[in-house]
Amino acid sequence: MERREFISMTSLSTAAAAALLADEAQGQAPPPAPRPLSVTLLGTGTPSPSLARQSSGYLVEVGRDLIVWDHGPGAHHRLLQSGHRSVDVTHAFFTHLHYDHCMDYGRLVLQRWDQGADRVADLKVYGPPPIARMTEQLFGADGIYGPDIRARMEHKSSQDQFEARGGTLPRRRPAPAVTEIHAGSVVKGEGWTLTVGHAQHVQPYLECLAFRIDTPEGSICYTGDSGPHDAIVELAKGCDILIHMNHYFSGTEPSPAYRAACGNHRDNAVIARRAGAKTLVLTHLLGQIDQPSVREQIVHEIQTAYDGKVIWGEDLMKLTLAGSKVSTIETRQG
Ligand SMILES: [Zn+2]
Ligand SMILES: [Zn+2]
Repeated sequence: MERREFISMTSLSTAAAAALLADEAQGQAPPPAPRPLSVTLLGTGTPSPSLARQSSGYLVEVGRDLIVWDHGPGAHHRLLQSGHRSVDVTHAFFTHLHYDHCMDYGRLVLQRWDQGADRVADLKVYGPPPIARMTEQLFGADGIYGPDIRARMEHKSSQDQFEARGGTLPRRRPAPAVTEIHAGSVVKGEGWTLTVGHAQHVQPYLECLAFRIDTPEGSICYTGDSGPHDAIVELAKGCDILIHMNHYFSGTEPSPAYRAACGNHRDNAVIARRAGAKTLVLTHLLGQIDQPSVREQIVHEIQTAYDGKVIWGEDLMKLTLAGSKVSTIETRQG
């Protein structure tokens, strides 16, 4: 089989396959065209099982980078539905290591490693400790996937497949470039700056973070999982899009501890108003509030206390920013 045909049959995206062929022809892949700033909601659900709402995940497209914020169970499936592939992702950031925010990390790294065949740069990974230890325990020689990785590196059939994908033996093991981050950390990319903030959630058991990305086209703040806290307001000050968990209808939280860790819809109105966020996207939605009339009541009550735009998030919704304004909102689900 011709290599060109083979590439077309693999699960590499069209853009990635074209880049590989160009690489072969010219010795160097041209950089992908810069994209406008956008965020796609990959998972707007919770740990509770739901086919309509996968667990937490967001995809930020900025310039030549494709950044995922959290990658909970189902988020990777949504990434594929959004028209992207693991090999297209350049950066992964984790707010905290609750499983509903990181369970598809293994899938992202292993599929990227397999499909990329040593021809894509190592994934850049950022998250609170113990993300480095988790990475080693997943992909290290003695890690959970250690035996699988060794088999794929050393069995002849896997080596043949690897070479057919354009790899050169010996095959390297997956090596995500992990940086542990904390509130106050700043990460700079090409045309973007990401600032890490504090989220109030389940400390001291997990370090919990929030993210804000600033670009010439606008700013997006994602507060991870967080109850009401001044640090969230500070991080979100004047942002164009604020993505915030809306786990509970006010007054229905099981306990004060739940409210402190997860907030409620009236808390969210106050946070958005104090921050001066232009658009508030509600996410991390439980099935019990994701109902006709409850939805409308929550949005209406938030709008009485906050004069920005309120959006009830859904999986695969894509918001594009141009000149600090939400220029388009696309949805893919019926
Ligand atoms: Zn969560
Ligand atoms: Zn959480």
